[in-house]
Amino acid sequence: MEVKTKNFKNVLLKWYKRNKREYSWRNDSDPWSIYLLEVISQQTQLSRADKYYKKFIKEFPAPKDMATSSLKKILEMWSGLGYNSRAKRMFESSKIIAEKSFDGLYPDFQQLPGVGPYTENALLSFVYNEKVITEDINVKRIISRYFGVKNPKKFIERFSSLLLKNTESRKLNQALMDFGSIICRPRNPLCLNCPLENSCKKYFNLETKSQEKFFGSNREVRGKLIKILLKKGRLNINTLQQELNTDQEKLDKIIKNLQKDGLVKLNKNNLIDINSS
Ligand code: SF4
Repeated sequence: MEVKTKNFKNVLLKWYKRNKREYSWRNDSDPWSIYLLEVISQQTQLSRADKYYKKFIKEFPAPKDMATSSLKKILEMWSGLGYNSRAKRMFESSKIIAEKSFDGLYPDFQQLPGVGPYTENALLSFVYNEKVITEDINVKRIISRYFGVKNPKKFIERFSSLLLKNTESRKLNQALMDFGSIICRPRNPLCLNCPLENSCKKYFNLETKSQEKFFGSNREVRGKLIKILLKKGRLNINTLQQELNTDQEKLDKIIKNLQKDGLVKLNKNNLIDINSS
């Protein structure tokens, strides 16, 4: 396995040297910048995430700037990215980071709301230069296809030290990120232009979760509801229902979940607004 992992890594890093996508944060090791970028780029293309990242880092250059802002302001800036609860968790995290600092939280970044193993490893690799692989869906897909393994997570756990031997983890992780979106794409991978083709197992059996249908889904109504409240301010539930053109039962369920996520508040007069606390 040592020869195969070495070949995989060397070819990949050589490809990356010539095809690297340039972004302002690529050489950054500031934890707040890395954290923001990772939260924003989840389920979002990097080029699009980069535009939002620039807006956020300009407005909130340090965690305390976001911590002392408001959920309303953050949701306004987040508009268009979807999954508003991520913005709420980012806001909550900024308060914890402002109080404890990244070094105070190190190495357990999963104590921050919304931070899972992937973002934690991104911080450990890009900020603290630790030998870890950022196991996102792209990385798992490449590993599974190339090495022909059904369980890429297990494979990474077992062979990450080989993959990272004499290699800066930042470089390998970024190379995997770019390679996964340019060559070994989820659909229509460019195998004919792939420098790894000769040695690749081309294992395409890994289950991919089908994307939840967006139009008409609760997720779509949630997003619309937040947009309306940001634009119009506090509203009566009935007015909101008319604006959303949805049935009462569905709306009640959505509001309940938004309240649970801390995104909206509903008072006894049936007036609903963005949660300002
Ligand atoms: S040959 Fe195809 S499947 Fe294999 S790594 Fe390259 S793009 Fe991915």
